[in-house]
Amino acid sequence: MKLFNCHTHTLFSHDGKGTIEELCCSAEENNLSGFAVTDHCDCEFSEDKTMLRNLSLSYKEAEKFKEIYKDKLIISKGIEIGEALFNPGFAENIINSYDYDVILGSVHAVRIENFDMPFSVIDFTAFPDSFIDRYVTQYFEDLLETAQSSDYDILCHLTVVLRYIVYKYKRNVGINKHLPVISEILKAVIKRDKTLEVNTSGIGDGYFMPEKDIIMLYKTLGGKRITLGSDAHSPSDIKKGLNEGAELLKSLGFNELTFYEERKPKTYKI
Ligand SMILES: [Zn+2]
Ligand SMILES: [Zn+2]
Repeated sequence: MKLFNCHTHTLFSHDGKGTIEELCCSAEENNLSGFAVTDHCDCEFSEDKTMLRNLSLSYKEAEKFKEIYKDKLIISKGIEIGEALFNPGFAENIINSYDYDVILGSVHAVRIENFDMPFSVIDFTAFPDSFIDRYVTQYFEDLLETAQSSDYDILCHLTVVLRYIVYKYKRNVGINKHLPVISEILKAVIKRDKTLEVNTSGIGDGYFMPEKDIIMLYKTLGGKRITLGSDAHSPSDIKKGLNEGAELLKSLGFNELTFYEERKPKTYKI
């Protein structure tokens, strides 16, 4: 069974390295059916000329290698829209400017005054518990609004805020308190016939985003469309965690995965 990776970055992302050609080579070596090129478009940086130029280059390169590799790999021309709520008009404009195969919807920063920068750059060590609670609550609220109102095909790395607050800064977050809003997020994905991503980039630390219990909740609520993304920021990570993710999903009763071309969902058996 050949897997498809719905989520990768290249040197056209601020935190990525490697070219699309290198991703193609790595995908072939790792026996993938294909992958989506999904460089970052974080909407709080809508004035950043470098990001805008990189998005254009990313699209052109994906288009070029989609053609070159058409007999060997399926390459989806995609984008990861972060924080669409920060600037919905900009997000819409970017999506309409290119002929994308797939749009990822993500939240990497939340709408809290003075702390609306990406959570990857915030030091959460010294905040009181009450702020941590407010911050995580706002993350889920922002993701819910994104899931309900933004334009996307795949909702990405649900619970990623915990990568920083819990795994990096060792703060305590009781996830149970947030289950009602997580449930609403999953229902929005299902109702709009979108797809939930299982992000495997945390596999080295032993976790998926979201975790198994939330994937089970998605299934219980009627969720069928699901996909795997390694969120590779380097070509060598193109298959990181995908086999483990596929095994987990099979064990939970999912027997097919989704990827996108021309923004239409396609499925394959696992
Ligand atoms: Zn992301
Ligand atoms: Zn990403």
